[in-house]
Amino acid sequence: MNFSACELKELFSCLPDPVFVLSETGRYVAVRGGVDQEAYQDGKVLEGKHVSQVFPEDQYPWYIEQIGKVLQQGRMQTVEYSFCPANIEILDTSIGPLVTQYYEAKVFPLSFLHEGERLVLWMAHNVSSRYQNERQLRLQSLTDELTSLYNRRHFFNQLNSVLNLMQLGQAPTGSLLLFDVDYFKLINDRHGHQAGDSVLRELRPFLLPILRDEDLLARVGGEEFAILLLGKGSAAALEVAERIRVETAKHVFMHQGLKMSITLSFGVAELSPTDSSDSVFGRADAALYRAKHAGRNQVVLSSASDNSQRELA
Ligand code: GH3
Ligand code: MG
Ligand code: MG
Repeated sequence: MNFSACELKELFSCLPDPVFVLSETGRYVAVRGGVDQEAYQDGKVLEGKHVSQVFPEDQYPWYIEQIGKVLQQGRMQTVEYSFCPANIEILDTSIGPLVTQYYEAKVFPLSFLHEGERLVLWMAHNVSSRYQNERQLRLQSLTDELTSLYNRRHFFNQLNSVLNLMQLGQAPTGSLLLFDVDYFKLINDRHGHQAGDSVLRELRPFLLPILRDEDLLARVGGEEFAILLLGKGSAAALEVAERIRVETAKHVFMHQGLKMSITLSFGVAELSPTDSSDSVFGRADAALYRAKHAGRNQVVLSSASDNSQRELA
């Protein structure tokens, strides 16, 4: 079937996603479709405008760059971008979403010119819900459900990355703190599993303010936690561990009006470029074992013998 100009106009105007014809210098030559008001503002206002009249100074050159690439390569490209419609003055935000939206666009080179300029067809699609879902899933795969701390898998991935960078001489020293709640079984036995859960849950808000943004705190076992301290050698790491030990022993953990206190035992090991994640973790674990045996509620630095014991074991 051949469409008349009128029919073609109607077909374009009812497309849920917006379609832009953009010139090589970044002018909106035509805007069609985009009738899905849950996903888009009315793009008609953009017709005749230049991208520099729509997007801020640090954003609009990107659009011209993408148009240039598509025209140069002569084939379709997929581009991804985001912006907050509420910050784009020209848009009427009485319809469409207001918070930052994520878009994927297919951009095609066109064979005809407009006022002597080459053109592209920019077909945008709002992928915000997919993007948010993916982000949520990614976050869930990295974190522990009970405490919202990073999980063991993420901790080991990060530790491996740091060790790789150290081997390449691209990361400074670092240390690993491994700590375990003392006699935690007693908390569960005396006050119930829920009270135990509540203590574990409170560790994140309690410990994060003591740490720097770049320190990685993770739950690596039931009541066992680890911190990767970047840029800190063993002496500085011992200080951090001691501070956490003292602050935790003083802290009152609350659960439904019940007051509980806990102590922690620590094993500390400095990372070496020859380490694997297992070897440094093993040293910290051996030091933690010694802290437990020496009476708990203390910090023990791993020694060279922690390595050899591990190798013999
Ligand atoms: P130690 O000083 O030697 O570490 O003694 P402990 O009692 O802490 O050690 P043990 O390994 O014997 O017991 C750990 C306890 O932690 C047993 C387990 O039920 C409890 N636990 C592990 N994960 C959770 C959890 O998610 N919630 C609660 N409430 N308890 C947990
Ligand atoms: Mg314990
Ligand atoms: Mg334990």
